[in-house]
Amino acid sequence: MTHYSLLQLAAEALLPSRRGPAFEQSELKSRYDVVIVGGGGHGLATAYYLAAQHGITNVAVIERGWLGGGNTGRNTTIIRADYLMPGNVAFFGHALGMWPTLSRELNFNVMFSPRGYLDLAHSEGQLDHFKRRANVLALNGIGARMADLDELRELEPALSIGLEPPIPVLGGLVQDTAGTARHDAVAWGYARGARKLGVDIIQGCEVLGLEIENNHLRAVKTNRGVVRTDTAVVSVAGNSSRVADMAGVKLPIETYPVQAFVSEPLKPILHRVTNLNLGYAYAGQTDKGEIVMGGNAEPMAGYAQRGSPLRIAELTAKLVHIMPFLSRARLMRVWGGIADIATDGSAVVGPSPVAGLHFNAGWGYSGFKATPAAGWCMAHSLASGKTHPLIEPFGFERFSSGAFLDEGGAGPYPWLH
Ligand SMILES: Cc1cc2nc3c(=O)[nH]c(=O)nc-3n(C[C@H](O)[C@H](O)[C@H](O)COP(=O)(O)OP(=O)(O)OC[C@H]3O[C@@H](n4cnc5c(N)ncnc54)[C@H](O)[C@@H]3O)c2cc1C
Repeated sequence: MTHYSLLQLAAEALLPSRRGPAFEQSELKSRYDVVIVGGGGHGLATAYYLAAQHGITNVAVIERGWLGGGNTGRNTTIIRADYLMPGNVAFFGHALGMWPTLSRELNFNVMFSPRGYLDLAHSEGQLDHFKRRANVLALNGIGARMADLDELRELEPALSIGLEPPIPVLGGLVQDTAGTARHDAVAWGYARGARKLGVDIIQGCEVLGLEIENNHLRAVKTNRGVVRTDTAVVSVAGNSSRVADMAGVKLPIETYPVQAFVSEPLKPILHRVTNLNLGYAYAGQTDKGEIVMGGNAEPMAGYAQRGSPLRIAELTAKLVHIMPFLSRARLMRVWGGIADIATDGSAVVGPSPVAGLHFNAGWGYSGFKATPAAGWCMAHSLASGKTHPLIEPFGFERFSSGAFLDEGGAGPYPWLH
């Protein structure tokens, strides 16, 4: 461990020229063992674990814009594991378990903050459903519990919680181990770690086509030239169907814009990320004091990275009922991302019908929390040639066999049903 004197620390702080870039730029080579399309958290995590866990370093991450400029840098950073369906319960339980040690593993502070997640029930039906979820999670060793009104008032004194209309609250599902992390630090941490191990990270490089021969992937065509490879992973949330089209693969996915917005900073008032089950409408307070808010996707499918003011008006109207302190807060910023959502609401991960072409898609607006585990499982699958059991339920086959992983009613996409 390095020990610094006060003088050295002062020099570090005052002399920015002593600090190099977070990682060196790479030149695109003409051949790689693995090409990863998309420099978001998922693509970068896959590259990192390929190198760190399996010694596979002849890998390129190809990003058309800048690292984390897609949904990784646009999400509301919620990390939770309160799913219901067997494949999702196991995967997200494992994913949640990877966050507490991630900063240490990457030697880069991703600011994971287990501040807790609270899901409010507004009807007897929702309360019963939450009890079922709490039981399923407990049986799987994933901490989550029910809280009654007295406990909710104690946990979150600033919330207006009661049985009165128009938005009664009957109880809640609490997950104390859930929380948030700094989303772009996750991309930077994985990028730095992967680069140190020899992975090439190429920004400003767009994949424009895929060369396929006898149903085998042979090369990836980019705006900087052709890269030969037998294995590619497409991790381009929001653009998965566009890249799949290049291979003639049809994904069971629709793409929707999703918005998020943030208030001016307030004094600490909201401890947990709190969701209202009225559709989906949530808020969480950042370390800086801003209240980050979000909810359902826009109602119309599309590729615009922005949404309509109507969704913001609808979400804030709901939130203000339960969080009256928001009524006088000003909004500072609004932004949008684009989310790929599968017809059953769960991810689509694994080998495609084209040999050598793998997808890591369909995470909707729930995939930030999945970043470490998705990368880890994908790297394992590529290195061993056998799909990791945790991502097996997300495979393409379920859409032909009918074994859907129907998380629509229980997860964040109730509007699908
Ligand atoms: C508003 C919003 C809020 C969200 N909130 C949460 C949340 O609170 N918690 C949660 O768990 N999840 C949340 N999500 C979802 C989460 O952000 C995503 O599931 C996750 O970040 C996906 O990561 P990724 O690495 O797969 O994709 P991205 O970060 O989108 O990276 C994909 C990259 O691929 C690049 N790319 C696209 N096409 C090409 C091409 N042809 N060639 C080269 N590169 C290409 C893009 O530029 C992009 O950088 C939210 C999403 C949105 C939009």
